[in-house]
Amino acid sequence: GRIRLAVPASHSALQLLRGARDEGVEAILVAHRRYYDAIYSRFPWLYSRAIVVESWRDLLSPRVVGELREANAVLVPHASLIEYVGVETLLELELPVLGNRYLLEIEASWDRKLSLLEDAGIDTPRRFSSPREAAEAGVPVIVKLPGAKGGRGYRLAAPGSVERVVGELEKQGYRLEDLVIQEYVVGVRLYSHYFNSLVHGRVELLGMDIRLESNVDGLARVPPRLQEELGLEPSYTVVANMPIVARESLLARVLDYGERFARAVERATGYPAAGPYSLEGIVTENLEYKIFEFSGRIVAGTNVYMGLQTPYASLYWEDPMYMGRRIARELREAAEKGILEKIVT
Ligand code: ATP
Repeated sequence: GRIRLAVPASHSALQLLRGARDEGVEAILVAHRRYYDAIYSRFPWLYSRAIVVESWRDLLSPRVVGELREANAVLVPHASLIEYVGVETLLELELPVLGNRYLLEIEASWDRKLSLLEDAGIDTPRRFSSPREAAEAGVPVIVKLPGAKGGRGYRLAAPGSVERVVGELEKQGYRLEDLVIQEYVVGVRLYSHYFNSLVHGRVELLGMDIRLESNVDGLARVPPRLQEELGLEPSYTVVANMPIVARESLLARVLDYGERFARAVERATGYPAAGPYSLEGIVTENLEYKIFEFSGRIVAGTNVYMGLQTPYASLYWEDPMYMGRRIARELREAAEKGILEKIVT
């Protein structure tokens, strides 16, 4: 039967719905009552059907999954869905998932995530296995907690304080092997959005964004003297995203990383890295691009181009082509060519 797109509410849902509509792909919204009433019920022309549930757990209940299977739907995973239902549920889900669901599992572990980047030959910030090693390296470090949402509780430390900071975290009950002690890279953040098209046989660079995070992006407005006196520490709750374009020579690295990543994912999982992913990093004063994180699925930063042509997408596509639409187009084209099974797992 006709292929449909199942879009879980929140994160990038509006963009995905809009993209499906642009491509003439029918979309089914799956939403928690709270978000449905407050947001999605205001845009009924964007979906052909809404499945509204009363609890987060029920978002992919057997009843919902049954209805989506019946509708011949492909599910688009995103960070909010993973947070609501857990990666285990997605791994066992009896429904085609757009892209590579095994990559989501790798993404859930700091160690596997950073190792994948390193195996890909992508430049990453230095990783230290002990606070002593970090202190001896003489660079600023960021200490990341396991499962932290939006970087909550991350600590910054200088070589002289990293042992004390890690000691404090251990006293709070964290185990050293669960902490990530990483070089803190000073520079400009750049989040690159890719789409690996198996229909067209290429990795497309579709856009870039930079995040605005609270409170860290407000700290610069507080004089350092006051920051010190108030004991203000940075936190990283994502509030918004802004479009950004890199200097052209940087594309040599950006494009190469996108393709390296796709190859490494296929080596690690045995399945292609079909569809959207993002590399999140910092460009230093020497124009190195150090990737500290990836997202093996659509990132919310692509929302900045919703309904628009992105500067980079305009190099591949005549029509306005943003990530939500790009996903729907690939789905439509893969279905037409009879190669749908290649772009889902
Ligand atoms: P999310 O799940 O929202 O992506 P997270 O908990 O995975 O957040 P990160 O994205 O890893 O957290 O980091 C949060 C913020 O910390 C980043 O946006 C960036 O500003 C900063 N950051 C992380 N790692 C580094 C690093 N090695 N050097 C400099 N800044 C970093």
